[in-house]
Amino acid sequence: MYFDYAATTPPKDEVLKTFDAVNRTFWANPHALHRPGTRADSLLEQSRKQILALLGAGNDYTCVFTSGATEANNLALKGIAGQYRARGNHIITSEVEHLSVLSVCSFLSMGDFELTVLPVNAGGTVDPDKLQEALRPDTILVSLMHVNNETGSVNDIMQLGEVIKSGSNAVFHVDAAQSVGKFDLSLDESPVDLLTFSAHKFFGLKGAGALILKNRLQLTPLIHGGGQESGMRSGTADTARAAAMAKALRLSLEERESAFVRVQSYKKNIAATLNEIEGTELNGPVEQTSPFILNCSVSGVRPETLLQGLSEKGIYISTVSACSSQKTAASHVVLALTGSRERAQSSIRISLSAVTTQEEVDALCETLPPLIESLRFKRK
Ligand code: PMP
Repeated sequence: MYFDYAATTPPKDEVLKTFDAVNRTFWANPHALHRPGTRADSLLEQSRKQILALLGAGNDYTCVFTSGATEANNLALKGIAGQYRARGNHIITSEVEHLSVLSVCSFLSMGDFELTVLPVNAGGTVDPDKLQEALRPDTILVSLMHVNNETGSVNDIMQLGEVIKSGSNAVFHVDAAQSVGKFDLSLDESPVDLLTFSAHKFFGLKGAGALILKNRLQLTPLIHGGGQESGMRSGTADTARAAAMAKALRLSLEERESAFVRVQSYKKNIAATLNEIEGTELNGPVEQTSPFILNCSVSGVRPETLLQGLSEKGIYISTVSACSSQKTAASHVVLALTGSRERAQSSIRISLSAVTTQEEVDALCETLPPLIESLRFKRK
């Protein structure tokens, strides 16, 4: 029973089939001028168009294929910083961003960029007034995530984007790794300039992701070479991986609404079970957050011990963020939300997906209370 879908999801059979079929038939270099090359190229471009259409991004946006959200975040942030340095050197982000944003920002601030890291409220979201106050004439970039990968907190991207657009010339980057495929995103009507995601979060393949960006934006590339991907990401494009990502996105969006409602009720079940256990505190509200992610601090048990205990019963959850290589560190996200180091060191994450079943949720809810009690007893 897998409850770690925020870390990754299994690729769907149809996605694997697409990957295999495209690799067998359209394996030619899509940048070659012969017929097999141009055929591969048209499939690559078709996948790009399909992804843009599925994200409600019309002709104003382009899509750069990357190896995932980490690379896309690096490209977005370093690319904008490099390209628009002459306009200013101030960057705004928030305390709860994924490390693939936060560490890029601190890297840039070690050079000649100034950084403002916004706090979040108890719900884990950025307050529009705080963003407004932080904007300066030399702010070139604001990077804020849509859905937080540890707590499921959801930033109001529209509102935050409006604040940015009405108060500055900064470009707005959104890390949407936990929302693409799960939330309705209509980029055309949004103030978002750049958006990043990874395919393996929505039943696609690892090693595939994208940066969606407004056509008018230029980026300094991370990878120089033959000038592929409009000069923003050199190297031979992977037609099969792009086609598989388009397929995974289409399939996820087809079942999006029904999955969302179903998973919402699962999250409520699990939250109610956790709330009844003494010494547990949910990190972030249950309502108005992503139904796919739930975070909770459990006192009197080490989170690794709880993870291990569940694992022995065939139930797999996570502690801190699986995306980080630090295994026992306190969660910087829970610390930002609660201000409590104790809670940040004792947090667990339970994450759900469209393939989670009621039976799995029931088994989790039956296992958690006695297990926590017995682990606490053993510790005494
Ligand atoms: N941003 C967020 C919000 C994430 O959850 C993740 C993955 N945990 C990433 C970025 C990085 O994605 P990847 O590891 O696929 O590059």
